[in-house]
Amino acid sequence: GCDARAVAAAVRAAAAVVTAHRDELVRLDQAIGDGDHGENLKRGFGFVVQALDESTPDTPGAVLKLVATTLISKVGGAAGPLYGTAFLRAATAVGDATELTPELVAKALRAALEGVVARGKAEVGDKTMVDALAPAAEVGSLAAAATAAERGAESTIPLVARKGRASYLGERAIGHQDPGARSTALVLRAFAEAAS
Ligand code: ADP
Ligand code: MG
Ligand code: MG
Repeated sequence: GCDARAVAAAVRAAAAVVTAHRDELVRLDQAIGDGDHGENLKRGFGFVVQALDESTPDTPGAVLKLVATTLISKVGGAAGPLYGTAFLRAATAVGDATELTPELVAKALRAALEGVVARGKAEVGDKTMVDALAPAAEVGSLAAAATAAERGAESTIPLVARKGRASYLGERAIGHQDPGARSTALVLRAFAEAAS
């Protein structure tokens, strides 16, 4: 079952993947942003792991809320508040359930997308994390969500950015994958593998 312990384990797995891909995310952000995305996320998830080490909350929703508040308070830049909002909306969507069902996971993904869109105002095709999260929120399982997010992240390569720092580059952003979309796909793949 996907209880609080399992969700905390999935979050730790995501932290490890973000850390392992720190340099890749930095390189993607160096190409079309300010180069800090990999370090921002690595630091943020590091603080999340520290918070989980201190105490694991006793419901999945409370774990997700701890992730959210930690990312919002510790991670600067555009992605910190956006990731934080995603986890906060996911936490609210699952409520005080003691186990996550597939239906709750799907609901949480849709809520996460709605939160990111409400906060960042990006649409699909704007070359942001929304390009990974939106297709993920449309499918049923975490494994399918991860695959959809990976395809969505790759779909950002030929795009001009209309949100975030990459939007300052105009056509020079073409040919580069959006770092936030890539990290979103990595996090969802880590969740999917932890849950399987
Ligand atoms: P910053 O750009 O402030 O340095 P990061 O490098 O951590 O912050 O995050 C950059 C990522 O944030 C981008 O690759 C993009 O996916 C995402 N992003 C930026 N602005 C928006 C937005 N308005 N809506 C959704 N995602 C956004
Ligand atoms: Mg950056
Ligand atoms: Mg920055």
